[in-house]
This record gives sequence, C-alpha cells and structure tokens, in this order.
Amino acid sequence: MALRTIRTIGDDVLTKTCKPVKEITPRIRTLIEDMIETMYAADGVGLAAPQVGVLKRLVVIDVGEGPFVMINPRILETSGEQTGNEGCLSVPGKTGQVTRPNYAKVLAYNENMEEVEIEGTELKARAMLHEMDHLDGKLYVEKVEGELMDIEAESEEEAG
Ligand code: ZN
Repeated sequence: MALRTIRTIGDDVLTKTCKPVKEITPRIRTLIEDMIETMYAADGVGLAAPQVGVLKRLVVIDVGEGPFVMINPRILETSGEQTGNEGCLSVPGKTGQVTRPNYAKVLAYNENMEEVEIEGTELKARAMLHEMDHLDGKLYVEKVEGELMDIEAESEEEAG
C-alpha cells in the first residue's frame, strides 16, 4: 500500500466527470487500498478517486464504523434535511455550512463487484453525498451557504 497525493482545489482533475469502473482489476484493488490508507493518514471520513487523480467512479468512506467502498454509486432515495459544517481534503484548512438530505440510500458495488445497498443518516449520509459529488466534478464549496471559513487549529472538522 502507498499514500497517494491528494489533489487540491484549482486542479482540473477535480472538475471532471468520472467514468464507471467496469471490473475489479489488480490496479483497482491497489487503488482502493491506497485510498483507504490515504484517507486515514489525512484524518478524513471519505475520499473519492478523482481526489487522488483517478477519474473513476469509486469512493471510500469511514465515519467511524469501519471503511467501506462504493463503486459506481447511484442515489436511490433521499429524505429530510441537515445543515452543518463540511470540509474537504481537497480544500485544506477550510470549512463551510452546507445543507444536504439527512438520509440517503445508495446502490453501489463493493470491492468484490457485488451489488450493495447502503443507507445512512447524518454524517454518513453527508459523507456519501459529498463523495458522490466528487464523481461529477463538484466540490462542496459550490454549495456553501454564507462564507467559506478557516478551520481553527483546535477544532475538529470532518473532512472528505
Ligand atoms: Zn471532498
């Protein structure tokens, strides 16, 4: 496993639409392992492949329940609303308030290319939707209500 370089805002790769993953190759397995390691090293709760420069529809998430992978994810259902501060490993040192659904149900493939339905509320829903936005070249900064703020050194923001 190896750490990958996290691309930051201003890098064109973060504005592109990603392509579906067709099959799990050794390269994709390595990518998944590297992305999980990179996410942990950066203290993030999620990471999308374009954030490490790979234009594939693949994300990894761990909101404290263990890591999971979503390949070619598709939203099946959302409901409710939550407003809270969001951060992104590709926008270092910043945070901003974003409103998203409070619940999301997603259809995706796991690391064995098995179809899975993943449900989440609150932080998990927020992380899934934030990471899925990356696959369409969207950053949370476009959705921020009010101003993008600097993260204070002591505060703990969740970043994806
Ligand atoms: Zn992000």
